[in-house]
Amino acid sequence: MTETGINEAGLESCIYCGACFRYCILGVYSELDGIELKSLVSGVTRIARKGYRSGKDDRIKELLERCTLQGYCDKVCPAMVKPLLRNKIAKKSIEEGK
Ligand code: SF4
Repeated sequence: MTETGINEAGLESCIYCGACFRYCILGVYSELDGIELKSLVSGVTRIARKGYRSGKDDRIKELLERCTLQGYCDKVCPAMVKPLLRNKIAKKSIEEGK
């Protein structure tokens, strides 16, 4: 695994269907405060890839705070992405503020 594991997350296969959040076992993404699932996925993916931008990414950060890394998303992804790893990397980036 690379330092961040980003290559193992398979992000290039993502079709932005939103299943990883829609079917979260905790049900915490049924209400998204106006943001679309697709935008949430692309925001989290961008943070995982390129890093967190304080201010610009604050809404995504707030929504991602609902994720407790249960990993059910990995089971529902139809595209061989590892959303759990994607979320972990994005959370780490947010935590480190970069
Ligand atoms: S990670 Fe998988 S489930 Fe989530 S949006 Fe991409 S393709 Fe869909």
